[in-house]
Amino acid sequence: MPMPVMAEAKAKSMSWYWRAEYAVSNWCAVYSAEEWLKPTTFGVKYKTLEEVDSWLTTVFDDSWFEGRFREACDLYGFTLHDGRGSRCATGDYKYGFCHLTLPRFARNQLIVLHELSHALAIASGNHDGHKRGFCRIYLSLVGNFLGHAASADLRLNLKTFDHDGACL
Ligand SMILES: [Zn+2]
Repeated sequence: MPMPVMAEAKAKSMSWYWRAEYAVSNWCAVYSAEEWLKPTTFGVKYKTLEEVDSWLTTVFDDSWFEGRFREACDLYGFTLHDGRGSRCATGDYKYGFCHLTLPRFARNQLIVLHELSHALAIASGNHDGHKRGFCRIYLSLVGNFLGHAASADLRLNLKTFDHDGACL
């Protein structure tokens, strides 16, 4: 049965869920930008959630992150969920904690920061799917934790695919 128009609009507004986005449309400027990034921009690829947990702990302990997000958003920590077998990675925020669901394909530093950006956008009241509020957070995290070359690579690709100027 085809998705009713209102349900489609609602799914689009919940676009931090990859599942919803894939159900509605397989095009998104941020995904296109990521698809064409240099392999080095994805950073370290992790095999286990424990490895992601250990890296994300260093992110949360970082002094810039602490000032920019933990104090500003009353953020206590994060919880990782095993998304194995699922086609979608998600980032959400509830009761002071970022919740990231990470299937195997999403266990690299860039996509972890992507999902973390969704959680932080929700936590800071800037949630707008993959638009400017999200991209500003995403680029700042990439610049701080993956370096200037990675954030420049991401910004350049976002510019290329951001046809309606919604991201930058
Ligand atoms: Zn996303």
